[in-house]
Amino acid sequence: MKGKLFVLSGPSGVGKNTILNRVIAASDHVRYSVSATSRQSRPGEVDGSSYYFVTRERFEEMIAQDELLEYAEYVGNYYGTPLAPIREAMKNGFDVVMDVEVIGAKKIKARVPDAVLVFVAASSMDAVRQRLIARGDVSPEAMEERLKRAVWECSQAEDYDYIVLNDDVEQAVRELRAIMVAEKCKTVERIHLLKEEF
Ligand code: 5GP
Repeated sequence: MKGKLFVLSGPSGVGKNTILNRVIAASDHVRYSVSATSRQSRPGEVDGSSYYFVTRERFEEMIAQDELLEYAEYVGNYYGTPLAPIREAMKNGFDVVMDVEVIGAKKIKARVPDAVLVFVAASSMDAVRQRLIARGDVSPEAMEERLKRAVWECSQAEDYDYIVLNDDVEQAVRELRAIMVAEKCKTVERIHLLKEEF
């Protein structure tokens, strides 16, 4: 059976990566879509597993050659989703999870209507700010830009299929897993199993 796409968005610092890492580690049928970006790598990030770090020129070549499912600019850098690995994973029955900002997520929904959009939020923006400060991997100016963007992103959450609250990471992981299970149990996903019988 073909896999499904789960697209996570949410403010920088809300903890999307932690949630995704936990969900991926707990399942052998979920794959992470590694994005391409023109931003510089941060300490600890690994080329090819955190992101594919590419130049702006190479990124523009990927756009021109239609290699991306979607792309967007986010605080001065390109970010985009390579199409081929997703196609391959889904064809082989894997569900694919990805971390994509709001504009890219909407582009994916337009292109793949049965993609599931999940917005990760925290009930206090102050908690997000504190996490971003604690992470300490962006400059104060970049952080302000990310926080401004975060406020706008939260205003777009009503276009998402689900909202996961990350006030407690264990609960957020449970919520995302529940969404993934429920989506796989939808009638439209399973009815063919019964049709083979009657
Ligand atoms: P960061 O620089 O903190 O890793 O990511 C910045 C933003 O880029 C995050 O909101 C993340 O969701 C988004 N992002 C990461 N990969 C992609 C992608 O492939 N496409 C789009 N549109 N956004 C992405």
